[in-house]
Amino acid sequence: MNNPVKKLFPRNVIQSLFVFISLYLGWRFINFYTFLASGGTSGSTYRPAGVEAFTPLSSLVGLRVWIGTGIFDYVHPAGLVILLTALAVSFLFRKSFCSWICPFGFIEEMLGRIGAWVLPRKLSIPWWLDLPLRGLKYILLVFFVGSVFFMMDAEAAFSFMESPYNKLVDLKMLEFFLNISATGAAVFGFLILMSFLFEHFWCRYLCPYGALMGLLGWLSPSRISRNEQLCIDCGNCDKACSGRLKVSRNKNVLSPECNGCLDCVNSCPVDGALTYSFAGKFKGAKYLLPATMLGLFALMIIVAIMTGHWESSVSLREVMYYFPLLKQI
Ligand code: SF4
Ligand code: SF4
Repeated sequence: MNNPVKKLFPRNVIQSLFVFISLYLGWRFINFYTFLASGGTSGSTYRPAGVEAFTPLSSLVGLRVWIGTGIFDYVHPAGLVILLTALAVSFLFRKSFCSWICPFGFIEEMLGRIGAWVLPRKLSIPWWLDLPLRGLKYILLVFFVGSVFFMMDAEAAFSFMESPYNKLVDLKMLEFFLNISATGAAVFGFLILMSFLFEHFWCRYLCPYGALMGLLGWLSPSRISRNEQLCIDCGNCDKACSGRLKVSRNKNVLSPECNGCLDCVNSCPVDGALTYSFAGKFKGAKYLLPATMLGLFALMIIVAIMTGHWESSVSLREVMYYFPLLKQI
């Protein structure tokens, strides 16, 4: 049995950092919620803009408004910046947002790893069921993208962006978790159990955000390539791949399921047999992907902050005015 702690470097360290940042943002946001719920007698007036990363549907509507009207989302600008960054990162560096940044991806990976450690044998869904199940995330993606981009015109999207519901959507999400219903808890329990039993259950079968990034990653100039002359057919790369890809059977990994984790490259015992490259260049520079991807992520956030595209324009007074409606909308 493999001890899951042994595999914690270096990608998981970066993922852990993003989990800590998310927990910090969550803690600050709970303080903000407390301020509103207590009528200003406790908590804090600081609203961390980064929590908008957790309201992707609102960000998708923001993107629709931006494309349709040229107006950048001023209600949840940070959410739109993070969505655009995730899309840019996916296009350039495959679905690496999922394997290096997303806190849900990390939690799920840890659950799967603990599951593989404690269960007598690793479980996997048979291929005849795996294939149709993988289609589910694309169906959800078509539903959400179709609803926002084809069922809504720019005017309707703008009205949604301006609505009290959207202005409170981050608080609504927090309240959902703070006062979770029996049905919500059962759904979460089910997802946790399935992620424990089957590696990457949520990402592989259900996450529409991951589906979108996987499709963009398909077009990416980032490549994992195998040198058939150097390869000794040990199969380490296949075992390391959480996407269940047959790396050792292909010259290049082209699947949208490849999340750019580089675990295959790191597990290969032969120098140069399995390499990462960008647009056919920088072959073998395996630190290029995390370094440039994280650099781009940080740069986009810094530029957004410096150009006034990070903090919401919705005033504290307005949020306090709408807050009593939170349970009704
Ligand atoms: S192990 Fe390799 S092929 Fe598999 S998802 Fe990670 S980078 Fe892609
Ligand atoms: S880990 Fe390297 S040597 Fe082993 S099968 Fe994969 S590419 Fe070939």
